[in-house]
Amino acid sequence: MKYDVVVIGSGPGGYVGAIRAAQLGMKVAIVEKYNTLGGTCLNVGCIPSKALLDSSEHYHNAIERFGEHGIETSAVKVNMKQMIKRKNDVVDQTCKGVEFLMKKNKIDIFTGHGSFVTKNIIAIDGADGRKEIETDKVIIATGSKPITPEMFNYDKNKVITSTEALNIEKVPTKMVIVGGGVIGLELGSVFARLGTSVDVVEYMDRILPTMDVDCGKELIRSLKKLGMNFYLSHGVTGVKATKTSCTVSVKKKDSEETFDIKADYCLVAIGRKPYTDGLNLTAIGIQTDDKGRIPVNDHLETSVPGIYAIGDVIRGAMLAHKAEEEGILVAEYISGAKPHIDYNLIPGVVYTWPEVAAVGKTEDELKASGTPYKTGKFPFKALGRARASMDTEGMVKVLAHKDTDEILGVHMVGPRVADVIMEAVALMEFRASAEDMSRISHPHPTYTEAVKEAALAATGNRALHV
Ligand code: FAD
Ligand code: NAD
Repeated sequence: MKYDVVVIGSGPGGYVGAIRAAQLGMKVAIVEKYNTLGGTCLNVGCIPSKALLDSSEHYHNAIERFGEHGIETSAVKVNMKQMIKRKNDVVDQTCKGVEFLMKKNKIDIFTGHGSFVTKNIIAIDGADGRKEIETDKVIIATGSKPITPEMFNYDKNKVITSTEALNIEKVPTKMVIVGGGVIGLELGSVFARLGTSVDVVEYMDRILPTMDVDCGKELIRSLKKLGMNFYLSHGVTGVKATKTSCTVSVKKKDSEETFDIKADYCLVAIGRKPYTDGLNLTAIGIQTDDKGRIPVNDHLETSVPGIYAIGDVIRGAMLAHKAEEEGILVAEYISGAKPHIDYNLIPGVVYTWPEVAAVGKTEDELKASGTPYKTGKFPFKALGRARASMDTEGMVKVLAHKDTDEILGVHMVGPRVADVIMEAVALMEFRASAEDMSRISHPHPTYTEAVKEAALAATGNRALHV
């Protein structure tokens, strides 16, 4: 059997691309080296981390917030084994859902490590030996892996990455997290809520350094209240582990000051790198760039015609929804359409509490490009809905062009902003102005009213409730 398209990797990029290609009438196969489909996102990423974030948030609210709501409880306890079991059940159901979708769309699943024999022949090394399949086109969607430099002595036992952290079955007493980025803050929140003493060591002078500066500033206040401790402008010089604990050596940037922190775990969360191991890319003449990424053009085609690459393995944000859009783009492009992705409008979300969400340009980016802009901000503490739920931390910031009033960036820290951000994404997709945003009727009382108020603030200081 010859396939029209073989997709290597079944993460959100690969499986969504496979579905779209099948919808467009192509004969599709998907190759996955693990026994479950869904990739990093479903197995050890987005879904399990959100399951634990939700569970830990329930616990935290029960012990810290129910009292003020007038709900009395007694002896609320964490059953970590059950928490992990529920997380595993969620993962299991979600991965099985992908398998169902493959079958529904008549996509053949091959389990095993895929590699190029030629540009049209893919070898699959699985439990039952080697198979080869023939194809017209290939989509490489092999994703990424955590960065674990040697000096961290990553042992998967005491020095861990997010993959192992999602399976800890006893609440640790102490955890050092290296990296104050998305993974460090999300998983740090999970353990801090459950009672772990969490230290975050971040090399930059702020957390979430790639997001708008106000996001990190707002969030760090909330996370400190949760008990998380931050060493900003600090780096790790080494980690030593025994079977039962680890010692992390920390050094202040631009200083000789060093100190050791002893902990149950050192969680390394300093970014992820593209994964192309064993793909045999050289056999077809593809060379990765200095960051290990597969270079692609605007249609996500590699230097070899007919071979495409999407998701974490190429340039751009390492996000599931970015990978999905790219999977759809490639399938549609192969079928003859001319699809397009506006990368500026791929939103980013951090699932801490309060949540952080953003789309478009940051204030620093606008300054660097010399774009004239105006700012409107609105704090959640001034919002009735936020006071009703006692979620008053955070703000919404709208950045609009100074002359044209077009919305250029929206940045939020606050309750449920992971969902609220979609209003900004949709409006920016249609190139709306801050005035458009401010004139839309927003239901009362909702968290979305903070967006309207921030837009009013951007259009000439017209916020109503501050
Ligand atoms: P992946 O999901 O990494 O899938 C690649 C697949 O390819 C894997 O299953 C791998 O086994 C397989 N593979 C690799 N090589 C081969 C081969 N040679 N043969 C066969 N199979 C192969 N993103 C969000 O948008 N929202 C979130 O909330 C979020 N949370 C995250 C939380 C954590 C802890 C982590 C680690 C990541 C999170 N991400 C999140 C990022 C998200 O998981 C990735 O951006 C996304 O999974 C990338 O999708 P992908 O399809 O490119 O690759
Ligand atoms: P990240 O890039 O978000 O954060 C890494 C952090 O580590 C940065 O703040 C960086 O300055 C810091 N750092 C780097 N080297 C360091 C060192 N030696 N010492 C101290 N600090 C150091 O990476 P991540 O948190 O590992 O996440 C990886 C990817 O997964 C991200 O690209 C992210 O997009 C994705 N992800 C997304 C979500 C989400 O969408 N909610 C959740 C988790 C992960």
